[in-house]
Amino acid sequence: MSIYWSKKTKDLLPYVPGEQPKDRKFIKLNTNENPYPPSPFVIEAIKKAALENLRLYPDPDSLKLCQAIAERYGLNENQVFTGNGSDEVLAFSFPAFFEAKDKPLLFPDITYSFYPVYCNLFDISCNLIPLDKDYKIDRGAYVKEILNDNSTGVIFPNPNAPTGILLPLSEIITIAEAVKKKNQVLVIDEAYIAFAEGDTNNAFSAVSLIKDFPNILVVRTMSKEFSLAGLRVGYALGNEELIQALKRVKDSFNSYPMDFLAQTAAVEAIKDRDYYNGNNKKIIATRKKVNDELSLMGFSVLPSDANFIFASPSKSGKSLHWIIFLN
Ligand SMILES: *Cc1c(COP(=O)(O)O)cnc(C)c1O
Repeated sequence: MSIYWSKKTKDLLPYVPGEQPKDRKFIKLNTNENPYPPSPFVIEAIKKAALENLRLYPDPDSLKLCQAIAERYGLNENQVFTGNGSDEVLAFSFPAFFEAKDKPLLFPDITYSFYPVYCNLFDISCNLIPLDKDYKIDRGAYVKEILNDNSTGVIFPNPNAPTGILLPLSEIITIAEAVKKKNQVLVIDEAYIAFAEGDTNNAFSAVSLIKDFPNILVVRTMSKEFSLAGLRVGYALGNEELIQALKRVKDSFNSYPMDFLAQTAAVEAIKDRDYYNGNNKKIIATRKKVNDELSLMGFSVLPSDANFIFASPSKSGKSLHWIIFLN
């Protein structure tokens, strides 16, 4: 604390990102990065772009990237918004769609711990809805709060983090319908959806609901699926009215959040579907193997559709140490 800080700054509760160890002696599992390198076309594009027009400001609207993303998901470019990491896109969506100090924003307990941080920053109150006994998002509890006029909107990740559990589209629809009735927005943070087995054609993504639900905003990131956490690219997909709101917030904050290298490289990433589908298959196979091994060791493991696993030991740390050591 300092006498020079504003009251707002004193009251902030900032997010603490996962540690990046400086030496590479560890197998790093925090922050859920992708173990495989990005597409070779991405690296080529960055090299080429670095020799081009860094002297100039980038396209403030990332038009080429929006077009490439729109094509991938069968949308119109006006239904795409890009930002400097999905954290920025998520941050913009708070003031864009949720009312400050009115009714609470609903999200799960437990979930991505950045949501309460944004609530605090933008003076939005929140109501944490407990997961059900199987650690799933409890759709009934949301519908009840929404229909009782106790919400300003809803946000959750699908699959949820840190449980890794996927909510089926049929259950998302139940929540989306209630939210739509109240003219509110449902933000679905699909940071890990590409790792859901069988999602090659976005079978589990809420992108397919956008045409029927003008109140659904799907937020995705290139950090995990596209092995580009260091590039900082995120995007949102939704009805044009929602995208326009995000642009208004962006242009009230920073006209150029996405640099030229990021815009150029991200276009190549989104186009190289074969490469990333191959990596996703490997990640899903590794997840199965780790799941089975942990279960054999007596861990209870939640069914994960993400690139991480939520497991709790049933034995003491000491006995686990010996099991691992003897293996
Ligand atoms: C990693 C993660 C993000 C942040 O992604 P960036 O694009 O790197 O900012 C957002 N939501 C969830 C649930 C995540 O796990």
